[in-house]
Amino acid sequence: MMHDNMTHREVYGNVDTDRYSRQLMISYFGIEAQRKLLKSSILVVGAGGLGSPVIMYLSAAGVGRISVVDFDTVEKSNLQRQVIHAGRIGWNKAKSAKRFVEGLNPDVEIETVQESVKPENVMDLIRGHDVVVSCPDNFRTRFILNDATRIAGIPMVHGAIFEFEGEAMTITSSPCYRCLYPESPPSKVPGIIGATAGVVGSIQAVETLKILTGIGKILSGRLIRIDLQTMEFYEIELKKRENCPVCSGELKEIYPENYTDSCRIVRI
Ligand SMILES: [Zn+2]
Repeated sequence: MMHDNMTHREVYGNVDTDRYSRQLMISYFGIEAQRKLLKSSILVVGAGGLGSPVIMYLSAAGVGRISVVDFDTVEKSNLQRQVIHAGRIGWNKAKSAKRFVEGLNPDVEIETVQESVKPENVMDLIRGHDVVVSCPDNFRTRFILNDATRIAGIPMVHGAIFEFEGEAMTITSSPCYRCLYPESPPSKVPGIIGATAGVVGSIQAVETLKILTGIGKILSGRLIRIDLQTMEFYEIELKKRENCPVCSGELKEIYPENYTDSCRIVRI
């Protein structure tokens, strides 16, 4: 939008137009979208392979408040893909992410939570955030976040990776993670090509930007699967599973017994 009869100060206020100039020059992005980002609050669960690009690009873009949840410590073997932790082996990952963001963009307020997501704390952790970005390394956390965000009415951006492969989807009131996977397969530590985490995490970052600004078409009801070994990207249209306890609205609370072993819902 052009503002021919207004001064730069009236149009942009105290937005750092130099820092964000390359996104402000996109005609359909502009200052309104930037203001929305600066006023937004997101929760990133996991500051690992997926969380690294998510935290990097969303803090760089000027998302005003980012809460990072991670109980884990940076190890040497993480640095092959968890690039925001360079030089900080031994640090808590949420604290390391905060230090990274402080060096990148002082506009961003970072809150760190050095805990794991559990049925007992998830509702408190997600409260007050506009989007939850799911970047954990285990199925149980994905199920807990899926169920809790739907109960709280907060959009969630899912991503997962395995070797050269990955998937991403956005869950609003659209088909949920349980519609895709009604129960959890056994968790094991997968091999991962670091750049695969970069691609999928970047997709999650863009999805989050689109939700926060209202620009573009999000991946709701659509799952993107990628195979970087063959460079095939494909989209799967998702439908709500008929007996999904989350999408039906039956599940109204988070009970710990729903998150043991297979994470099947046993208590409504
Ligand atoms: Zn569902």
